Amino acid sequence: MINIAIDGPAGAGKSTAARKAAEKLGFIYVDTGALYRTVGVAALRRSIATDDAQKVAAMLPEIKAELKFKDGVQYVFLNDEDVSKEIRLPEASMAASNVSAIPAVRAFLFDLQKNIAKNNNVIMDGRDIGTVILPDAQLKIFLTASAEVRAKRRYDELCQKGTPVEYDALLEEIKHRDYNDSHRAVSPLKAAPDAVLVDSSDMTLDEVVDKITELAKKLGDGE
Ligand code: C5P
Repeated sequence: MINIAIDGPAGAGKSTAARKAAEKLGFIYVDTGALYRTVGVAALRRSIATDDAQKVAAMLPEIKAELKFKDGVQYVFLNDEDVSKEIRLPEASMAASNVSAIPAVRAFLFDLQKNIAKNNNVIMDGRDIGTVILPDAQLKIFLTASAEVRAKRRYDELCQKGTPVEYDALLEEIKHRDYNDSHRAVSPLKAAPDAVLVDSSDMTLDEVVDKITELAKKLGDGE
């Protein structure tokens, strides 16, 4: 099986680029953030504080998280209920960020991620895929962009949706999340030593997709 790991900070364009590249290559695209969001939603539903490590850990035996793929689209299930929409709500982002810092949660989701990669050609995106989940991936990419560019992209996206936002507030939030993600004790966000660094600050989405598929095709050439 061919495994491609894509890690990087929030807003670098990982998920859109990885999804499109997977489509071109005929691989399954696995968005691992969805799993942390699912655990976050499970805690929210039980009114458990998402940063309460003990309570969140005690909840884990009660939940079953699953990913299913239909026509190349990923759906996420919580105890057999499709929660693919609910995990995209803003409160689920914060909940995911909190529960993802809890070691028991990372351990809980470990086998699930590994097994999908064992049985399929995948592009898997997350924060610790190249470093922890798939250290033997044939290709690892660390996709990044400056905090300013990521804030601007998010700003444009929200403006388009008609959501009023302040650029400066978004920039602060992004910097804060970067700090949290790269300084947590378990599985901090960092590039694997053998990852290819791609800075998307001055690249279009199509250019990023081309870069990923180009690197993936080189694997087929035996390089
Ligand atoms: O990628 P997404 O924004 O959906 O991820 C939600 C949260 O889950 C992030 O804040 C991130 O900290 C966490 N996460 C993680 N490890 C992953 C994927 C996501 O810690 N592999």
